[in-house]
Order: sequence, then C-alpha cells, then structure tokens
Amino acid sequence: MAGEIRYQRKEESMSDATIIDTLLDTMAPGYGAGGVLLPALLGALTLLLLHHRHQMKRHRERHRQSARDLAVLSDHDALTGLPNRACFEREAAQYLQRHSTALMVFLDLDDFKLINDSLGHRVGDQTLQVIARRLRQMAGDAALVARYSGDEFVLLVPALADGETVAWADRLLAIMRQPVVFNEVELMLSSSIGLARWPQDYKAPCDRVECLVRSADLAMCEAKRAGKNKVCSYHSRLLLVQNHTADIAARLRRLDPDKELSLAFQPRMELATRQVRGAEVLLRWHTAEGEQISPASFIPVAEETGQILGLGYWVMEQACKALARWPVQDDPLVLSINLSARQLMDVQLVDRIEALRERYHLSAAQLEFEITESSAMGDMAGALHVLGRLRARGYGLSLDDFGTGFSSLSHLRSLPVDTVKIDRSFVCNLENERLDRVLVASIIELAGNLGLRVLAEGVETLDQLALLDSLGCDEVQGYFIARPMPEASFLETLVQRPDSAPA
Ligand SMILES: [Mg+2]
Repeated sequence: MAGEIRYQRKEESMSDATIIDTLLDTMAPGYGAGGVLLPALLGALTLLLLHHRHQMKRHRERHRQSARDLAVLSDHDALTGLPNRACFEREAAQYLQRHSTALMVFLDLDDFKLINDSLGHRVGDQTLQVIARRLRQMAGDAALVARYSGDEFVLLVPALADGETVAWADRLLAIMRQPVVFNEVELMLSSSIGLARWPQDYKAPCDRVECLVRSADLAMCEAKRAGKNKVCSYHSRLLLVQNHTADIAARLRRLDPDKELSLAFQPRMELATRQVRGAEVLLRWHTAEGEQISPASFIPVAEETGQILGLGYWVMEQACKALARWPVQDDPLVLSINLSARQLMDVQLVDRIEALRERYHLSAAQLEFEITESSAMGDMAGALHVLGRLRARGYGLSLDDFGTGFSSLSHLRSLPVDTVKIDRSFVCNLENERLDRVLVASIIELAGNLGLRVLAEGVETLDQLALLDSLGCDEVQGYFIARPMPEASFLETLVQRPDSAPA
C-alpha cells in the first residue's frame, strides 16, 4: 500500500552480559589473576558505557526518523502520496504570503462514483493514483497540488496571463480526458474544473486559502451544472446563486407545510380506452409572503439538505388522504409519486409507506412510485432492496425520465419497475425528427418485450398522441391531455369516465 512505512529492524548487537563475558575472557583469562582483574573490569565498564551511549544514540535517531515518517504520513494522503487538505491549507497560506498573484484550481472528477460502483474500489483507487500523477506532472514544481477529499483535487499554481489561463485549463481538461487503462479495461474520464484568481477573487476579511478554495469550488459546481467536462472561472454571480440556495434552505426550514404546500395532479391517460386512469402528484409551494417558488428551484435544495425526506412524507400523506376521500370506483385511480435518491436511501421508507396505506385503507395498487436511473444508481444495491420490497407488496414502480442521463438498457432489466416513462425530450419533436421516432419505437418495443408498460411524457399535440398510439404506447401524459391541476379540477375531469359517472 502506498505511504505504508516499514521499519527495518536490524539484528540487535550482542547483549551487554555477553560483552562483559567476552571482555573479561580476553583481558583476564580465568578471572582469578588478582593484579589484572581490576584494570580489566574498569576497561570492560568503559567499553560497556561506550556501547550504551552508542545504543542510546541509535535509539534516538530511530525515534526521530519515525517522528519524521509520522509527520509525512499525517501531511500526505496515503493513497496518492499527495499532500492532504490540512497540509495544503498550511502551505497555500505561506504561498499566498510570498506571491502577489496565483491561480486556485478546484478539480472534481465527473461521475467518479460510477467507477467505484461498477468496477470496484480497487480500480477507483488506481484511477485516483493515475490522476494524481497527471496533476503533479501538469502543474510543475512551482505549484502546490493536493487531494482535497474523495475525487476532489486542488492546485495552487503561479498566475498566468488572462488568455493563457483558459488555454492552460483547457489543456488540463484534455489531460484528464486521456483514457486510464487497467488490464483490458479502458476508462474514459472527464472532470469539472473551477478557477479562482488571487487576489482578484478574494474578499477580505475571510481566510485567504479558505476563501479562494470556496470560490474555485463554486466555479467547479457551475461547470458541473453547465454539463460537466468544463472549466468555469469564479464570478460574483456565483455567490448570488449560493446565497439563493442558502435562502431557500432557510425558508424550507421555517416552512409550514399545511399552509404553504399543496399538491397538483397531472392526469395520465390510457391510450387504449382514452380514459384517465390516474395522475402524477406534483408539489407546489406558495410561501406565506405570497411568492410561488418553483419545484425546479426548491427540490434540488431540499434534496441537498435532506429536507426532501420531510417534504416527501408530507406529499405521500396528502396523496393517500386524497385517494381515501375520492369516490370509490370499480377500477381505482392510481396516483404516482416521485421518489428522490435521498428518499430511496431512507431506511424507514417502506414501513412508513405501508403505515400510511393502512391508515387510509388503500390498496398498494393505488400507489405508484417514480424513480429515475440516477436516483437508483447512487446506491444500486440499496435501491434494488427497497424497490424489491415495494414491488413485493404490490406497489407500482415506474422509471421516470427514461432516455436522459445515464439511460442504460441494462437498468430496464435490473430495476424491478413495471412502467417506463419516456422523457419529454423524445416526444417534443416526434412528428419531425425521424431519429426520435425510431428511438421511441425501439423503447416501446423493447419495453413491451420485457413485459413493461410505456408512458410518454410531454405530449402536447394530437399528432404526437396519434403517433404514440400507432407505435403501441400504453399511456400518455402532457399538456395536450391536461396540465397539472388542483384536486377539485382533477375530479371534474374524471366525470367523463363512464365508471365514475353518477349512477
Ligand atoms: Mg415524474
């Protein structure tokens, strides 16, 4: 293992007793020769003292060496041999004192977790070692390079002229993209990079290193948001984004769900019967101050802070309450509820869903849970366990946004879902884009062969609906059928259902 320190223990020299015996034997054979005994003993004692002094010196040297080794170990990351965060912060502070300009670089590997998850931690560790070597080479001797945490690295490099900075960072991106090869596996990696300049991007009176690392980190997050495999430089607007996030998080903590939150229902229509069979449940937030905050801005924050768990259970309870108060039908309506990655990892999830279902006297078939591939991939084993338990109890499961992100056909096979929801991005150009039609037709056929139902999202025109019908799609959802609506309006749309019409 890298960084492991071995202490080479040499054979100890002769024991003191052996030395005395040897000396006495040489200098005073037989011990008893009166006149020579005393000087011999004195000589032996002197030698013994010298030997002891020598031993003590060696012992002290060994002690000093292990103290040095320990210092190296506590300053360096054992896996990559690079300085660790604490060491970097100390040395960067000295660097910034000595230099009037510099560039702080924050680098995060894109989707590194997938390597650990799919190829194992050993390959993951080796990858980090390769990356560390590349960074060290690229940065040069004048730079500080450190492993900040996990798959995050920081570099403090001498400042370059403005035009050169971008070219340098692009070169760094290109070097990171070079394949990493292990045995027969070739890994294609990319990274997201954030830059912050010293002293321009530093705001007194914060700690210099801390402030610059945070600024470069914010820029790196912006690079991720912009689609990864990118370089972004820090600019003050990023701080606004961060403040906005912090503001939403604070308001979520103060939120009174029963007063500020509500559910919207977006009908799902079965194509064979042209009947609404249920709805997707969506969350709406009207703040006490009268502001409407879109789910696109508060759900990611809630997901990041963990507040999504509380919101999620509120949504489930309201959905169950709604189902319980709606008129009883031969063919009960199904409500589908989105589950995030954080919720899937909640150990109480299945028990709490069961408790709600029983409290409101519902059947499991009345509830469906929507997951995305990326939410399941964070912890695939855990997700499979939770989804398996839900499936075994009879709840519906659908794979949301299919076709985006990491869509992989193997997920269709391994995730225990019964419905695939084709992402709206494939549906919006269905009439005009032949490729989209081919893809949608293939997904429908494949899903059908696997025994899965297919729902197309984002249907906005009659042509799209007709095309999807002809391709064998089972269900549709989108503005052409209906927009998300309050409960009362949703119930009104159901009046057209023959089985819900008053007797
Ligand atoms: Mg959904």
